[in-house]
Amino acid sequence: MLKYFLPDWEDRVDPKFDFQNDKFSESHTKDTYNNDNYAHQIFDKIPYDGILVSLAIFEKKISLNRDEEKYTIRNKDSIKDYLKIHNSSNLEVMGDCGAFSYVTEKQPPSFYNVEDIASIYQNLGFDYGVSVDHLAVDYILIKNPKTGKREKKDISDKENDRRIKITLKNAAKFLDLCNDNNYSFHPIGVAQGYSIETYEHSVKKLVDMGYDYIALGGIVQYSTRYILDILEAINEDTKNVQIHLFGVLRKDYLKKFQDLGVTSFDSASFFRKAWLRSGQNYLSTNGKWYSSIRVPQSFNPRIIKKVNFNELSLNKIRDMEKKALKALFDYDNGKIDIDTALNTVMKYDKLLLRNSNDGDNLKIKYRRTLLEKPWEDCDCPMCKELGINVLIFRGTNRNKRRGFHNIWALRDIENTLCVVSCGKKKIWDKYPKTGPTPAGDVYIGSYTKKCQDYAKKFYPNSWCIISAKYGFLFPEEEIPSNYDVSFNDYNSKTINIDELNIQAKQKKLNNYEKVVVIGGKTYLNIIKDVFPQKKVLDPLNGCKGIGQMMNRLNNLINN
Ligand SMILES: [Zn+2]
Repeated sequence: MLKYFLPDWEDRVDPKFDFQNDKFSESHTKDTYNNDNYAHQIFDKIPYDGILVSLAIFEKKISLNRDEEKYTIRNKDSIKDYLKIHNSSNLEVMGDCGAFSYVTEKQPPSFYNVEDIASIYQNLGFDYGVSVDHLAVDYILIKNPKTGKREKKDISDKENDRRIKITLKNAAKFLDLCNDNNYSFHPIGVAQGYSIETYEHSVKKLVDMGYDYIALGGIVQYSTRYILDILEAINEDTKNVQIHLFGVLRKDYLKKFQDLGVTSFDSASFFRKAWLRSGQNYLSTNGKWYSSIRVPQSFNPRIIKKVNFNELSLNKIRDMEKKALKALFDYDNGKIDIDTALNTVMKYDKLLLRNSNDGDNLKIKYRRTLLEKPWEDCDCPMCKELGINVLIFRGTNRNKRRGFHNIWALRDIENTLCVVSCGKKKIWDKYPKTGPTPAGDVYIGSYTKKCQDYAKKFYPNSWCIISAKYGFLFPEEEIPSNYDVSFNDYNSKTINIDELNIQAKQKKLNNYEKVVVIGGKTYLNIIKDVFPQKKVLDPLNGCKGIGQMMNRLNNLINN
């Protein structure tokens, strides 16, 4: 599995927040930093491997104090103490410069001089330190002093070449400093580029300098295909090098990235999706996205500005807000039905002067969230503690916890193996002359294909087929030729449980924490026998016959 670094921007929550009465705790109000918690203080099993701290935070948000060679942040002299990472924790901390914060400058500002940055990483006890880079980009936005508006300014290839040169020069100096001073953090060199060739060039230079950990910068803007092309191009030169992808989370391609040599990535996107305007605010542990339900805070002046006060008093608005929250709690407790809850929420929502189409659209999304109650199926501490509150779009304490949940769900999905059944109809029945074929292309019956569509959609990085003859098969593994063996045919020579156990070990299937079975009862029972200790999920539970299973799969895939 790829190492995942969660970027931090002081993302903490009040552990004693009162969700029933919507109130911060006294301890939060008294001393916010010391009493609030990071995600890793809340999870027993932390769903990320490290934290990425951008040093730009010291320019923008909190002060870094320097006394001779000693640095402190919020009176802490180590980055791990500041992040409240426990001594016994394996959580690692990576530091970078947050080059986007100075993308419009000619060069990295004086704060980012290479000696100082290396010394900050060392003195604060970072595990990894990223060299000082300058982004190569297509354009930048510059404020016009006359109009005050930000205007687009194209960046030429020549200017980008200059930026790449600065980045490489800094990387060389950075590595020398680390070696000369015997710094204990692991140096990472940044490769910038604006084409496959320029990335390739940067990577080669960094390898020549002696870097064994290289981060690709500025790739957020690119399509997944283009990123894969870059990775393929540098693959030969980076056989013994770890690769980090900056700011890129393409959930469906994690395995592909890993196959191409990527070892780590960072991204805040699933965390921030929790409160972005879209239907994708909450990721369920079975891979589906849900919309969270907005109940805006009437004490927020920005929200209240939108309300038409000619018709309503502030007290009336507050009353409607309270009723909306109560309706959601009552629905969760089974006291009222879904329509009553929805109508109460939408009545308050309407005050915010949405256009009516938007409202209808939201209502459909909200209904799905309420109907399917995804929080009930999640074992994360956020969902366990908050219940329906996790799905309410309202204030930092709910929204950030939903973000933390999303990070958990991502890891949970990565830790789940999806096993799909094989099928009777195979490619050789239709095209007898076909040679050896990858298992993913062998079974051509429409039901088997539908099972695979489900696996590809929800578990794209971790699915396999179970064949009555060959046992567990990854989709890329080849089957030599046609065969006719079925678990349901007692006369045929099927693979047995002992053999499947050996395969599960060899193919590292035991490393997964959960198994999802897409197939009939026979398959379910076999999987339960092979993985007696694991949680086995059966989304087709209760279906009778292939027709019902097809229907269920269609609903799950298309919903
Ligand atoms: Zn959860």
